[in-house]
Amino acid sequence: AATAALQRSRQLHPLHVRRAAVSHVEQLGGRMRRITLGLEAGTPPIPWVRLAVGDHVKVAFPHPTTGELTLPTVVDDRPSLPEGAQRPVTRDYTVRGVHDADQTQQVTIDFVVHGTGPASTWASGARKGDVVGLLGPRGSMTEPADARRYVCLADETALPAVGRWLEEAPAGIPLEVVVQVPDATCLVPLPQRADARVTWLMDEEEGTLAESLRSLPPEPGDYVWAAGEAGTMVQVRRAAAELGVGGEALKPSALQVDGYWRRGVPGRDHHEPLES
Ligand code: FAD
Ligand code: ZN
Repeated sequence: AATAALQRSRQLHPLHVRRAAVSHVEQLGGRMRRITLGLEAGTPPIPWVRLAVGDHVKVAFPHPTTGELTLPTVVDDRPSLPEGAQRPVTRDYTVRGVHDADQTQQVTIDFVVHGTGPASTWASGARKGDVVGLLGPRGSMTEPADARRYVCLADETALPAVGRWLEEAPAGIPLEVVVQVPDATCLVPLPQRADARVTWLMDEEEGTLAESLRSLPPEPGDYVWAAGEAGTMVQVRRAAAELGVGGEALKPSALQVDGYWRRGVPGRDHHEPLES
């Protein structure tokens, strides 16, 4: 795998705005709620691309007091609302899985119920029949299938993507996973996989994701993937740079970092620079 190319590939999808109703709610453990949503009949299915672990939809929530769900239509591949209509609140969520049942596509999303915020609040009270909108995914980014080793660093919000890594990474490639959660009550069962090692950091005393990366440490051919709180991701990126990941010193190697949320910032856009 010294010749690993470590290339990701992107595929774009036409925008769809889908209505979906809760068909099943399951407490996965800790504060993770698995919510399965059935697409309205006749809705185009959400594309499923193997190893596109970062695939996400914008979940659009009903108005918290009126309960009304205002969804845009699609005009020229963009969301469009009538003049004066209020845009629904949306938040990004990983497409954890899809399957077909009763002739409708069922979409699984795992929500961290963390306390405040429209998404967390909706998820904590979600019941069968509740309706949301799903916008996107706009594209699928397939992770490289040829690494010497995958190193995945995640917090709770990236556990659904980690679940996808564990299920979808090519057999035979070792997967080193480090997950940081606030405490032991936040443990969630993960898919079993040969060639995978999962380490849980329960709180700051057990170290940080950046320290874990330093202690591994990365080697040529490694693909380092990290997602979670933006400040934590800044630390990971810094540690990776110091270790030479993605640079001349550790060739080939690659780093992919995504800030899924930022402490104190509601509805942060993950396409913004990590520092913002
Ligand atoms: P907001 O209104 O956005 O924030 C309210 C307050 O809560 C803010 O102070 C904010 O800093 C804080 N906050 C937000 N999230 C958390 C948290 N997890 N823990 C503690 N405090 C928090 N989240 C998932 O749970 N499951 C997923 O599968 C998932 N996939 C994602 C994929 C992508 C590509 C991205 C960009 C994000 C993903 N997230 C996922 C993260 C999720 O979008 C954010 O956590 C989002 O802020 C939650 O919205 P909210 O309405 O609950 O809180
Ligand atoms: Zn996005």
